[in-house]
Amino acid sequence: MILIVAEHSGGKLSKSTLEMVTAARGSGREGPVTLLVLGQGVAEVANEAARYVDQVLVGDTAALAQYNAELWAAATTQIAQEGEAHTVIIGGSRSGREYAPRVAVRLDAPYLEDAISLTSEGAGLQAQRYTYLARVTETVRAEGPVVVVTAKPGSFAPAEPLATPGEQYDVDLTLPTSRVTVTGRSVEKSSRVALTEADVIVTGGRGVGNPENFGKYVEGLADSIGAGVGATRAVVDAGWRPYAEQVGQTGKTVQPKAYIALGVSGAVQHLSGMGKSRYIVAINKDAEAPIFKVADYGIVGDINEIVPALIAASKA
Ligand code: FAD
Repeated sequence: MILIVAEHSGGKLSKSTLEMVTAARGSGREGPVTLLVLGQGVAEVANEAARYVDQVLVGDTAALAQYNAELWAAATTQIAQEGEAHTVIIGGSRSGREYAPRVAVRLDAPYLEDAISLTSEGAGLQAQRYTYLARVTETVRAEGPVVVVTAKPGSFAPAEPLATPGEQYDVDLTLPTSRVTVTGRSVEKSSRVALTEADVIVTGGRGVGNPENFGKYVEGLADSIGAGVGATRAVVDAGWRPYAEQVGQTGKTVQPKAYIALGVSGAVQHLSGMGKSRYIVAINKDAEAPIFKVADYGIVGDINEIVPALIAASKA
């Protein structure tokens, strides 16, 4: 079987999980596509997961109330062994990349990190991934009875539901006592949707002018339409925005339904992080800007005039 470890938060499957389902379906690997849902009180997540895969395995226990690398690695290894999984797919999130190598070691499996594509190649599994600050895309192939993969978020389109939901099974997990405990947690309150989860993203480039304009135009437009906020590397390097918002080869890869680029030139390193967006809208005062080559809708004009009108229209 192909075993995918579901990522979820707030009782909902993360977009990255649906992306991993697409990676599994397109991988050419045989056997049922299986989602492993770990956590406490995850019945709703499991029901949602069943819409997308052949079967869902549910490890619902108080010990898994909060993410912990030791426990996630132990649970994933156990289920991979019991289900004789030949492919284990884990999210390329910070936590996924923390426990995936542990799973690979325990299964004595080769490990493909940060896959942006996944295909079968003979008996092996082939992935593409970025390397050397994303200046190089390399193709790597792994062989073995079982291969562990992490999927780079935003690299695969989110899966569509199946006509018939898959079966759900509870699993009994034998978990170790974790040696690391989370002793405190403060959650940053943001009403804004996370960049990698957003269906619509508004991204600001250097053409926005300054940090104040970024707040006024990029955040202003994003908030008025319930979108996530992105930034180019030029903006991040200038210290206007945090690295977490950077889109591109050395930032996040995103694939929203709509990507609105304000004052973004469209450098190749930026395009590689958002070029798979379903619709791209660009506003730039330079009609020759490369962003217009990939844009579905383009407005040649000054942000200072156009964006306030857009915000006003979206609130009307
Ligand atoms: P600029 O290229 O300066 O473009 C600004 C645009 O704004 C221009 O097109 C201009 O016409 C327009 N403009 C100006 N004023 C206005 C106005 N008033 N109204 C409307 N339009 C206006 N970049 C990334 O974004 N992400 C990455 O991950 C990334 N990784 C990189 C990795 C490497 C190894 C390298 C070498 C580069 C990388 N870059 C990355 C940088 C990339 O090459 C570009 O320099 C960067 O994307 C440019 O950002 P920008 O579009 O904001 O700025």
